[in-house]
Amino acid sequence: MAQAVAQVQDYMDEKKNVLIATANAEMIMRATHDEELRHILNEAALVVPDGAGTVWAAHHLGYEMPERVAGFDLAQELMRIAPGKKQRVFFFGSAPGVAEKAKAKAEELYPGIEIVGVRNGYFSADDEPEIIAEIKAAKPDLLLAALGVPKQEKWLYQHRDELGVPVSIGVGGTLDVMAG
Ligand code: UDP
Repeated sequence: MAQAVAQVQDYMDEKKNVLIATANAEMIMRATHDEELRHILNEAALVVPDGAGTVWAAHHLGYEMPERVAGFDLAQELMRIAPGKKQRVFFFGSAPGVAEKAKAKAEELYPGIEIVGVRNGYFSADDEPEIIAEIKAAKPDLLLAALGVPKQEKWLYQHRDELGVPVSIGVGGTLDVMAG
């Protein structure tokens, strides 16, 4: 976790528009038959092991992987650091009303945090230009996308150049959990 957090901080400082994926066994198995997802995971700046299964499999294959880094936990660690570094965070995804509740929770847990925008994850292709414009205008340093796997990874990858956000992470059910 400490290594992942430090790496994400570097990416934010470098402002290179990177994608980070949090891979559990389900995502990795999906990537074996979903070529687009596989490509995205291979292109991602960082893929953290979101699950004991991923850590086990890495060890089994002979890779060093010290511990599990769950997407939820990584998001919390980054939000804890954000106020001190004046990093701006955008919540995109989950059902209408959920991201607003997650924002209130984040403001309670991490005083001073700047959640510079929220947008639910239910949209049509026609809505996408407006969503992209909204995210761009908010100028976040960190975009947490909760659209589920693999929609969030595909959406972030597809729009990464237009979005121009230093770090984007697909975080699955994180906003739901935060909203309670
Ligand atoms: N979601 C969304 N748009 C969609 C489909 C799903 O915003 O078109 C949200 C859903 O409301 C939930 C999250 O994506 O908040 C998916 O959570 P889940 O725990 O299912 O994530 P996964 O297991 O796919 O990582």
